[in-house]
Amino acid sequence: MSDAYPQLDVIAVGAHPDDVEIACGGTLAKLVKLGYKVGIIDLTNGEPTPRCPDPEIRLAEAKKAAEVLGVQIRVTLDMPNRRLFDSFEHRVQLGKEFRKYRPKLVLGFGEKTPLASPDHWQAMQITDAGIFYSRLTKWDAHFDHLPVHTISAQLYYTLAFRALELPEVGSKFVMDISDTLEQKLESIRCYETQFPPEKQHIFERVKAFNMSHGMTAGYQAGEIFVSPGTIGTHDLMKFVIRGEIKLPAEGPESPDEKDLGEADKSS
Ligand SMILES: [Zn+2]
Repeated sequence: MSDAYPQLDVIAVGAHPDDVEIACGGTLAKLVKLGYKVGIIDLTNGEPTPRCPDPEIRLAEAKKAAEVLGVQIRVTLDMPNRRLFDSFEHRVQLGKEFRKYRPKLVLGFGEKTPLASPDHWQAMQITDAGIFYSRLTKWDAHFDHLPVHTISAQLYYTLAFRALELPEVGSKFVMDISDTLEQKLESIRCYETQFPPEKQHIFERVKAFNMSHGMTAGYQAGEIFVSPGTIGTHDLMKFVIRGEIKLPAEGPESPDEKDLGEADKSS
């Protein structure tokens, strides 16, 4: 049944089209370059917004942005923008998408975004729950009898807006996006209705944020992630000298999985 859907390595979940581009677009473009299959799930279509005349235009912008990043799949769910709440139905709806596309890693919101949309915080709860629901057995009727799927790893991203501090949980690390920063900015520029001329400062901010985070790890630009668990390593020299990381992974598929460190070696 699930053959109808291509298996993805990574899915990034956002509340609105453009969240994922701003938070981790450079990482998604980089993962695609490394040969991984990457998808984006937007929980809502993000509309209405002040300057977008029609939801179809926002959808077209999202499609173009996905093409710029090179991701294989973009799904826009029909949860309501501005009225997004964590609920059983929304958890199941996202859990079904995970069962269809069977990602190994899910990236999602890791914090509240004060003074911005409260949908983001709700999206974090829905994503946490959707990951859990994806692997629950004896509940098939809720999931259209899609086979269960265990997601091996989860990471939290942060939106480049107002937060100075990141959540004090797990391990923070930086993904090198030196060679995909411009691609990321181009994908955000696809959202002409969201970033008109008077909001062009967003690009400087995102760039400064990513350059600042990148510098802390010795890269030109980087995106910061938080792992809910502490990140460990089997090889201290590889980890420290080459700056590679092994994501904490568990579940039946993990022994055979490539990790981000392995992928770096072949590039
Ligand atoms: Zn948003």
